[in-house]
Amino acid sequence: MNTKWLVETNGDPLGAIQNIFTEAWERFELDSMLVPTNGNGGPHLLHDTNELNHLNPFKPLMTLNAAKFLPKILNEQPEARIGAVLRPCEVRALEAKAKREAIPLKRMLTICVDCLGTYSPEDYQWRAERKGSQEGLDGEELQFARQGGIAAYRFRSACQACQTPIGDGADINIGVIGLPVRQKILVDIRDQATAKTLGAKKSTSLEDHPYFDQRRYVSTRLLQRGTQTRQRLIDNLESILPRNLDALIDQFEHCGECRSCFEVCPLCAADYPSKDSAGLYEREQVMQWMISCAGCGMCEQACPNHLPLVTIFTNIRQQVIDPMEAALIN
Ligand code: SF4
Ligand code: SF4
Ligand code: SF4
Repeated sequence: MNTKWLVETNGDPLGAIQNIFTEAWERFELDSMLVPTNGNGGPHLLHDTNELNHLNPFKPLMTLNAAKFLPKILNEQPEARIGAVLRPCEVRALEAKAKREAIPLKRMLTICVDCLGTYSPEDYQWRAERKGSQEGLDGEELQFARQGGIAAYRFRSACQACQTPIGDGADINIGVIGLPVRQKILVDIRDQATAKTLGAKKSTSLEDHPYFDQRRYVSTRLLQRGTQTRQRLIDNLESILPRNLDALIDQFEHCGECRSCFEVCPLCAADYPSKDSAGLYEREQVMQWMISCAGCGMCEQACPNHLPLVTIFTNIRQQVIDPMEAALIN
């Protein structure tokens, strides 16, 4: 059973989160921690808790999905205990990846933070210049966490259509959405053993706390908005979207040598999806890829042809995979 814990932030939510991560690092005796920092929007592997003052899980820029290279980090350090601070779409990708390949998750402490959305790199750069500095832009979203963030239409389409902005599924989950973050944030710990190591005291009455009503309300609204946006994007692009797997595979054939979307996707590898003897991408592998897609949008961001890949993949799931799964259940 989860242990929920409201932590005082004393006007500095980012500082409070840094303190929690420092505490977790020390108590779980981690050797390093992969974290999003104030840098270029990609995760950085830190080796010292002092470096955590560069941490910023709310930077509205995502240039890599950490699940893509976490297995490599774990393999290169076979004895190390590694912490990873992830966005919800990175947790989903890591879970999907772990179903397909052996990842030593037991050597990891995963921490997921509510996500307030991210801009495309070009848009981020433009907004930072208008704002006068990256720091101003990086701190902007957290100020509006209680309302669910700032106007979503500004974000990448993957974020506008996101189904998983709430931190969940990790060993430790940090909640800010719907909460007055200058006063309190939520720490939601997956199991008793983790809670005990972290020194959290279980609070039995938290679910009735008024903050939770607000969090539930805002979370539900965000999920509804994500669902509506997904459908709107599909409806707007209906005439150009591939309608089935064969049409999608055909589309990839027209991409020539480009494999940019495969290269950035946490669920693909140099040889996955592979090609069959006729030189076409393996149908079953492409289908598994679609099923496990975490919706992070890194593929779309990398596509030189600006194809709306997240919408294409969502549509394939709706048209082909969801009906197949429903038929199997019935
Ligand atoms: S897809 Fe969702 S979790 Fe991922 S960066 Fe966008 S809003 Fe955040
Ligand atoms: S297919 Fe695209 S959206 Fe899905 S997990 Fe891969 S990079 Fe993310
Ligand atoms: S990134 Fe775009 S152009 Fe390149 S293979 Fe993927 S869909 Fe095709």
